[in-house]
Order: sequence, then structure tokens, then C-alpha cells
Amino acid sequence: MDNVGLKPMDAEQLRDYAHQMVDFIADYYNSIESFPVLSQVQPGYLHKLIPDSAPNHPESLQNVLDDVQAKIFPGVTHWQSPNYFAYYPSNSSVAGFLGEMLSAGLNIVGFSWITSPAATELEMIVLDWLGKMLKLPEHFLSTGQGGGVIQGTASEAVLVVLLAARDKALRKVGKNALEKLVVYASDQTHASLQKACQITGIHPENCRILKTDSSTNYSISPHLLTDAISHDLGVGLIPFFLCATVGTTSSTAVDPLLELGKISKSNEMWFHVDAAYAGSACICPEYRQYLNGVEETDSFNMNAHKWFLTNFDCSALWVKDRNALIQSLSTNPEYLKNKASEANMVMDYKDWQIPLGRRFRSLKLWMVLRLYGLENLQCYIRNHIQLAKHFEALVAQDPRFEVVTPRIFSLVCFRLLPHYNNEDDGNKLNHDLLDAVNTTGKIFISHTVLSGKYILRFAVGAPLTEERHVNAAWKVLQHEASTLLSGNPIE
Ligand code: PLP
Repeated sequence: MDNVGLKPMDAEQLRDYAHQMVDFIADYYNSIESFPVLSQVQPGYLHKLIPDSAPNHPESLQNVLDDVQAKIFPGVTHWQSPNYFAYYPSNSSVAGFLGEMLSAGLNIVGFSWITSPAATELEMIVLDWLGKMLKLPEHFLSTGQGGGVIQGTASEAVLVVLLAARDKALRKVGKNALEKLVVYASDQTHASLQKACQITGIHPENCRILKTDSSTNYSISPHLLTDAISHDLGVGLIPFFLCATVGTTSSTAVDPLLELGKISKSNEMWFHVDAAYAGSACICPEYRQYLNGVEETDSFNMNAHKWFLTNFDCSALWVKDRNALIQSLSTNPEYLKNKASEANMVMDYKDWQIPLGRRFRSLKLWMVLRLYGLENLQCYIRNHIQLAKHFEALVAQDPRFEVVTPRIFSLVCFRLLPHYNNEDDGNKLNHDLLDAVNTTGKIFISHTVLSGKYILRFAVGAPLTEERHVNAAWKVLQHEASTLLSGNPIE
């Protein structure tokens, strides 16, 4: 690029470079299976490859792309690889990609309605669409007292609702009662709730982490919850927030929303549901049952960026009472005042989130919903669940392994059985197996611990995964297991 007269947004250069970039990315997807899924670099590798300071003069796009290939790709873990089975998926799609591209192209900052009316209004409409696909109660739609908003992550979603719930409770019982407020969740609840408690000033000793075990398939026991609430009320504490999960991070446990809803209602607690991963499956009628009871919740969250083909980040949050959020998060400085906001004619999403600035994220969700449609999205989910069932059957056929928890969605929790029931040995064995398979670079899986047992997680959900990838992954696991068990690989 010449360096006389920078033209940072020249339309013709954009056309030329963006075409090159799209070609580069399309080539990446064509060759994605040739990379080790889990990056195999050592910490600090990049410092050795990249200069200490930024260039004084422009470099060519080709040079930068060459560096991406040679220096960046080795340090990338390929989340979009069909051989990626770790954590939960984080889907990319053509539709989601185009939406991101359009959002980057417009590059608006839609904090108030006036800053781009389409950004606010499309977000309301698209979250109403998605809410209807999930058959969420009417009060979560923008036509009622509540509405939907796109947060960056499920962590931000739980933080803003905890804040709203805290302030609502303090308005009722008095602002000095913070130290009495109690939050309820389970030992399977995502750590983002703990972080939200730290930020909102909930006293650590007032976070009731209810124990779960295999007797409830790691879901919250309503009896334990009732007992904990009674005990807390008895000592003068104030139960105010319950977080349930549909599809826990470790094992996709589903908390019983109907029963928990009754308990939170009778104790006037805010009831939040985190369905970050499994919410997507609930667009299929046969999985919607897992949301039964959502009518009793105050807020509901699912990550469209996990298993719903919407490129990161896009976390959909619905609240029953938008004013509760707004009361906690609204500010109204002079420099942002405008006629539409002052007249209360519009929604200003800056008052539903932590930052002021916000991207035009609804575009990508809109693209996904329009370019794919409900039926294709349902097939997409069902196909992954079918592949997970297939993997589960493969595991069940090999007597050296066991499936540890019942598979509900597209995650299989399994492990290599320990010698002579020695659990310490079993934990080491599975830890070693995880290391061995991930070091091959052929697949990437992750782990968890349930009831003290080290367990392997195989989460199907990458957009390019087919049955042949699942079969090949299982072969890698069997091969590495054989090596570990005998020192001699069985081919
Ligand atoms: N909740 C659940 C159930 C999850 O599985 C995860 C992440 O996997 C999260 C919350 C956190 O998601 P985020 O990264 O969007 O904050």
C-alpha cells in the first residue's frame, strides 16, 4: 500500500481487499481439517515471531496475510473444525458471518434509539421472533412489560439480572440490607454467577451452592432448595435470587423449572434461567419440554453464539419486567438527551446493559433466521443430537469405557473405567487420555469432574461435523486408550 495520503475507508480498496479476505477465509475453511484442532504452541511463542513495535510505514495486505498463515494460524485453536468436540460449540455460519460483515461495514454504535433506530428496532423484532420460536411466555416479548436484549455473553446476562434483582429487593427491604440478601444456585451452575455475585456485592457466605449428585442427574433438588430457604429465613436472611440451568456446563443437567418456579414465586425471589447452550435445542418441539416452567421465570438467557449458527458474540436475554433492568442500569447525561428518549417513545438499550456502546448484533441473528429458517435450524440441531447418540452408542459398545450421565442433548460424558474400581487410578487414566488425544491434534475434547470422578466431555456441535468425523474421533480415543492401557497400541 502506498503511504501518501491515507484513505482508510476508500470504497474501491474495501472491495478489493475484502474480496481477498473472503477468499482467504474461504480457503481456510477448505483446509480447516489440515490444522491441529488444539493449538500445539508453547506460551510466549508469538513474541519470537513478531517485531517489538508497530511499523512506521504501511505494509501490504499480502504480507499481513502471509503472517497470519505462518505465525497466527499455529496459535489458533480451530473452534470451527469438524473435529472440535470440546467445551460447547461456538458456531460460525455463512449467514452469521455476513451479518458480522454488515455490522462491521455500517459500524454504528446503537446505544440509544436515535443513534440508529434500525439497530434498536431490529433487535426488539428479532428477539421477539426468537422468543416465539422458543415459545417463551408473552410477557418476555417487547409487546408486554418485558422484552429481549442482546448481551455479549451469558455472563453479562446473569450480571445485569442479578443487579436488577438486587436493587428490586433492596427497594423493598431497605437499602442497608445488602448483607442479608441470599442467592441460590447449584454446584453445577456456571461460574459466571459467582462472578456476578462478586461484582454486585453479594456476600460470599450468602451464596447457597446446593449440592447435586447422580440421584437427580446433577439437577437441583427442590427439597434441598426449600430447606435452604427455610433455614435462611429462620436466621433473618432474605432469599432474593434463584439461578436455574437448562443444560449445565459440565453435563447438560436440566433443573426442574416448574417446581423451582413455584418455590421462587412463593418466596418472591427473582428466578433466572441460564440455557446458554441447550436453549437452542428448545426450538424443536421434542426438546421444548425442558423449558416447561419458564412461564414462572423473571429472566431467561440463551447464547445464539453457541449452537445457533450466530457468530460470537450474541447472547439473547429476555426479562419479564424491563423496568427492573432499566431502574438499575439507566443513566441520563445531558450529552445523550434527545427528543425521542425524553418523550419515552423509544427503547434505549444502553439502559439494559453495562457498557454504553453497543454493536449492531441483531443483524447477524436476523441473517441466520432469514437465510436458514426455522425448519433448517431444527434439522441442524437434530442432526448434532443424532451424532451424539451415535457416539454414545460407540462408547457403550466398548467395555473398557462407560457413559457416565444420561445424554440429553449433544454432549456425551464418558470415561475409561478404572482398574479394579480404583477411582484415583481412574482419574489419572482419564486425565492422561485427554492429554494424549488432544496432543494428537486430530480432535479436541475437554473434561469435567462429577462426584469426584474425572470425566471426558464429547460435545457435538461444530457446523462442519459429520458422522465420519465422529467415527474418526472415536477411533482416536480407542487407539490412545489402548496405548495407555497396555503400552501397545491396538490398530
Ligand atoms: N452458562 C452456561 C450453562 C455455559 O455453558 C456457559 C459457557 O459455556 C456460560 C454460561 C458462559 O457463557 P458466556 O461465555 O457467554 O458468558
